[in-house]
Amino acid sequence: MIRLFKPFKYVRSFRSIDVDNLIEHKKKLVICDIDNTLVAHDEALPSQEAKDFIKRVQDAGLQICLISNNNKDRVKLFADALEVPYYGFAKKPLRLTYKQILKDYNMKPSDIVAVGDQLLTDVFGGNRMSIDTILTHPLVTRDLKTTKLNRRLENQIYRRLEKKNVMKRGVFDE
Ligand SMILES: [Mg+2]
Repeated sequence: MIRLFKPFKYVRSFRSIDVDNLIEHKKKLVICDIDNTLVAHDEALPSQEAKDFIKRVQDAGLQICLISNNNKDRVKLFADALEVPYYGFAKKPLRLTYKQILKDYNMKPSDIVAVGDQLLTDVFGGNRMSIDTILTHPLVTRDLKTTKLNRRLENQIYRRLEKKNVMKRGVFDE
């Protein structure tokens, strides 16, 4: 069970994602969380760094879309500024939005890598769909109210992962 919370890669930030390595792993699509992954949850628009990351992914020949549990207005505004497709109110870790993405892109789970800052939504959601995941350290510590509860559970999972020698919080792969 605890293995479902183990990311494929654990990095400090989206900035440290090795896009060439994704290509080597035959990935075709990056599905990326927004809040505390690309920008703080209360920043409406993408930063230049987030824009550069999206461009780096696209220039490497990968497709990218955004997948967020936040409301559709927030997600649309953000995604439109980047001119990338988006899935708002995604209800991660439930399977429905992931299934929709597989269908929309006509891809297998192994074609996709999911990027996000939360074990309970981004990593667990991807893993249960057999989609490889990249866990990023959250950009800021302030969170949405709903996320706060998740973070409490997440702290327990991090402790379990550490106890089982699976991974240690703050010890990144790169
Ligand atoms: Mg997030």
